Amino acid sequence: SQEKFDAIVVGAGPSGNTAAYTLAKAGLKVLQIERGEYPGSKNVQGAILYADALERVIPDFRDDAPLERHVIEQRVWVLDDNSFVGTHYRSDDYNKPPYNRYTIIRAQFDKWFSSKVREAGALLICETTVEELLMDGERCIGVRCDRKGGEVYADVVILADGVNSTLARKAGFHGELKGENVALAVKEILFLPEEVIQQRFNIGEEEGVVIEMMGTVTEGMVGTGFLYTNKDSLTIGVGCMLSDFKKNPARTTPYALLDKLKRHPSIAPLIEGGEMKEYAAHLIPEGGFHAVPKVYGEGWMIVGDSGGFVNAVHREGSNLAMTTGRLAAETVIAAKAAGRPLTARTLKAYKDSLDESFVMKDLHKYRDMPQVLHDSPQFFTTYPALVNRAAKTMFTVDGIDKKAKERAIFGSFKAARRWRGLLGDAVKLWRAFR
Ligand code: FAD
Repeated sequence: SQEKFDAIVVGAGPSGNTAAYTLAKAGLKVLQIERGEYPGSKNVQGAILYADALERVIPDFRDDAPLERHVIEQRVWVLDDNSFVGTHYRSDDYNKPPYNRYTIIRAQFDKWFSSKVREAGALLICETTVEELLMDGERCIGVRCDRKGGEVYADVVILADGVNSTLARKAGFHGELKGENVALAVKEILFLPEEVIQQRFNIGEEEGVVIEMMGTVTEGMVGTGFLYTNKDSLTIGVGCMLSDFKKNPARTTPYALLDKLKRHPSIAPLIEGGEMKEYAAHLIPEGGFHAVPKVYGEGWMIVGDSGGFVNAVHREGSNLAMTTGRLAAETVIAAKAAGRPLTARTLKAYKDSLDESFVMKDLHKYRDMPQVLHDSPQFFTTYPALVNRAAKTMFTVDGIDKKAKERAIFGSFKAARRWRGLLGDAVKLWRAFR
């Protein structure tokens, strides 16, 4: 039973599904292996789906994909313990089809995507874990699964096995995952009647709102919170760097942070009465550009979270997963069409196309961000508190003249950070965003 495939794809998340779909659609013989009971059963995501990346592989996905709401409004909130300063961007342009962004429930979405992969002709095996890669010297020749006689061979193995990627580590493709390169996020899905959600968020049927948050809720740790509107539920979550949880003197747990976020006076009324039906914790690779390992070699490629392809600043992950999955598949398709063996030399074309795409360009743009944030807890504590206090000073009408208020605000910034600190922080931010 030494059946050989053109490609084996490990994992049925967005990266694996895109790779398997693209390969199968081009007529290649594809085996996809997923350890979950069904695709999506193990997957956790906020979740915002960015239409563009999916549209490039399945242009008519809107016809039958399980989409919750299209996003018409993006809010960014900077919180202190009892208030927030925020910006809201809402546009009627986002309310005209084809919509650009949707909220989704990953379990349903992954199932749908997987049905498309199978329709395209790939063979999917679930409830099966790939335990290791089969190597012939430097060359990856297949995988060994946790089933009897579970050795399967292929010209190329695409690792789409998510953030932990034990397989790549075991094979020596890259080192251990570092705590400062990965965030631990928890989220809940809270059920509420559709009309209640629409009233509370000032939206119509099928319209959605996204709130991204940062501030004192993460207790000085590098991290963010989020709140998304689904059709008849809300997703609320918070995540911080794993290394910060480890060194946090108060030993705060992710659950405690989420609880605190839910009790925040600006959040509590939005989620009130929500019935919790799903709770999940998951890692997010947030090391950025410098943490991306080598993603191709002799007969193997790495896509999605397994390669650390997440833009933490813009909270984009699934679209990078889909794009890397597509580019890896297109590299294999082109090589096969040209009759070239799938060696490292051939597969380097995958890295070249990544470099040309928004994936590596965006990660490169924010390459200094992880380090800057890591070294600067003030962005998550001092500044949110200062900005909120400044807003309160300015907006409270109390007989004090505005010039004096401005002086008080500048004074509070200077007292907290001194001129040197303020200047240094400005330079750091410029470096991180340049
Ligand atoms: P995954 O989705 O993790 O899929 C990997 C698959 O491989 C899993 O199904 C797993 O079961 C399987 N697998 C692993 N090991 C093996 C093995 N040895 N054998 C067989 N199967 C295996 N991104 C966004 O774009 N928008 C968001 O709003 C967003 N919100 C997020 C919120 C949270 C709380 C989290 C944790 C992440 C969020 N992300 C978001 C990021 C996004 O979820 C990931 O970037 C994306 O899921 C990566 O896709 P992937 O296919 O690479 O990995």
